[in-house]
Amino acid sequence: MPKISKTKSAPKLAHKTHEAPHVQEDAGAKKHPRTPQLVRGMKDILPYETPWWDLLYARVADIGVSYGFERIETPVVEETALFARSIGKDTDIVEKEMYAITDTEGEKLVLRPENTASIVRAYINHGMLNLTQPVKLWYWGPMFRHERPQSGRYRQFHQFGFEVLGDESPIVDAELILIAYNVYKNLGINTSIQINSIGCGKCRGAYHQSLIAYYRTVRHEMCENCRRRLQKNPLRALDCKEPQCQPLKKDAPHFVDYLCEPCKEHFLSVLEYLDELELPYFLNHSLVRGLDYYNRTVFELYAAGEEEGSQSALGGGGRYDGLAEILGGRPTPACGFAQGCERAILKMKEIEALKPPADIVHIFVAQIGNQAKSKALKLFENLRAAGITVAHNLSKNGLRPQLEIANKLGVRYSLVIGQKEVQDETVIIRDMESGGQESIGFNKAANDLKKKLGLS
Ligand SMILES: [Zn+2]
Ligand SMILES: [Zn+2]
Repeated sequence: MPKISKTKSAPKLAHKTHEAPHVQEDAGAKKHPRTPQLVRGMKDILPYETPWWDLLYARVADIGVSYGFERIETPVVEETALFARSIGKDTDIVEKEMYAITDTEGEKLVLRPENTASIVRAYINHGMLNLTQPVKLWYWGPMFRHERPQSGRYRQFHQFGFEVLGDESPIVDAELILIAYNVYKNLGINTSIQINSIGCGKCRGAYHQSLIAYYRTVRHEMCENCRRRLQKNPLRALDCKEPQCQPLKKDAPHFVDYLCEPCKEHFLSVLEYLDELELPYFLNHSLVRGLDYYNRTVFELYAAGEEEGSQSALGGGGRYDGLAEILGGRPTPACGFAQGCERAILKMKEIEALKPPADIVHIFVAQIGNQAKSKALKLFENLRAAGITVAHNLSKNGLRPQLEIANKLGVRYSLVIGQKEVQDETVIIRDMESGGQESIGFNKAANDLKKKLGLS
């Protein structure tokens, strides 16, 4: 037995823990400290859910590799200006939903509401312009929007996304749409694609004028936000979620009728590629995506049968050729998309075949008595190191509760160490199906079990 050096206070402390707690008579009822609560709008992802998250991550990562994308991870904290300049000041995100924080030095920062602007910032900051173009990146992580909490929507939510920077050709748009579509196809989720073009700086002016002219005729029917933004940002009206603004969209002019020649050519090429790939898409003339940095192609994916109402989009994206310049970089045409993880997992749960596989545990190690406990932990380590999946519960003492756990785990064999086995340096192997038992040497256990389990 190893010796424990004694200090003066050690025995006293040990004694004290067995004393009844001293209650002060005048203290009244003992107050429990308040348990800090989950912050409003936040969500714990509990162990019963994490297998779904792992499964989605694995599938998205596979897609990333197979299409030649590399993963990038940017911090959740960014300068406020990054989003105010890129997403646009007259948007819900920047006006109302920015998760603003002030650090101890008084610097105003935000928790990122989305990741595209961060990726373009990183592209500029790290001179990725000098790499072979295009640069193809994918990401996964939490985003933050300080929205009014409502069921199923959280202030911290997760997105994965794919971005291609440094190529303006329409084949990039088509490939990204194909990837977005295939992420879901590989999960067994049928989606349909909605697509539109919102042109460029050249053709946007004429369209905005005709949009403003149209919305002026129905001004009294618009929501207050849309009326306020109409002059500055008429596209917002097409993107508005207010019920009263929905019916107004259908008579609004279509951007495709106002596209300049290069924009029209670009859009037609994207559609031709999608036809060639036999992807199911629909033109949606009121699809504009809510962010200022988009131009030309914009698209969204919907679970098949849920196309009505933009609240239920699984994700979307588009081209953002001007964003790098807005952020002070050199002109860099780019395109990308983002998808919501929470929405994807909800869909995945509806599909039985997708159920994440339960972890297979081969062996349970049970022990009876204190000396057996340390032997059991040693045995556990031997088996684990030998590549056997093994479980234990060293907090339990009786054999029966331990075997109950073993049964629940569905292990093939349990190993039992008691006082006698400690002395004999043996282990009892119990076949959990037949109930038969045999004794083997402690040091032989790992090899024997590997053979029994067909692992060697
Ligand atoms: Zn144009
Ligand atoms: Zn509106």
